[in-house]
Amino acid sequence: MSRKNKHSPANSNALKPGNFAFRKHDHRRCQRQLLSAARQVCERRQLRLTARRRQVLETLLASHQPMGAYDILAELNRGAADRIAPPIVYRALEFLLAEGFIHRIESRNAFVSCVHPGHRSAAQFLICRDCEQVAELENPDAGLFAQADDLGFAVDHSVVEITGVCAECQKHVG
Ligand SMILES: [Zn+2]
Ligand SMILES: [Zn+2]
Ligand SMILES: [Zn+2]
Repeated sequence: MSRKNKHSPANSNALKPGNFAFRKHDHRRCQRQLLSAARQVCERRQLRLTARRRQVLETLLASHQPMGAYDILAELNRGAADRIAPPIVYRALEFLLAEGFIHRIESRNAFVSCVHPGHRSAAQFLICRDCEQVAELENPDAGLFAQADDLGFAVDHSVVEITGVCAECQKHVG
């Protein structure tokens, strides 16, 4: 077996999950991978990623910035012959939320695509108040839940949204 390519970035095609917002990356590839991951989860769970659901997901996958339901609606209706009504977008969002393909950013009343589609566990976020990008934490702080558990508290919903300024935006300050 040739070791000739030892120093070439052999794994440059492998995008590490979670290696997204706030890190330089090939977002086109990131989009493709997240969409195909969502498709696979749908197959596994025997769900239908209908054209509408996919369009809403693709709209959110366009960036790592959260979008409000009406922004998504406006985006879908841009240049479209037959306009989509809000309830259709809301239903698609509900589906995508329930399956863990997107998350709700409560403090922004907006939605963001998930970086490891399909997980059911609670997500935690870093939100840059300059570029408005949102990074989903790869290793959510389980300690929070352990403490709740110690108190015999049954958690049914958790919102962890940490606001600040990302490394890239800090470079442009001052
Ligand atoms: Zn990306
Ligand atoms: Zn997620
Ligand atoms: Zn930023």
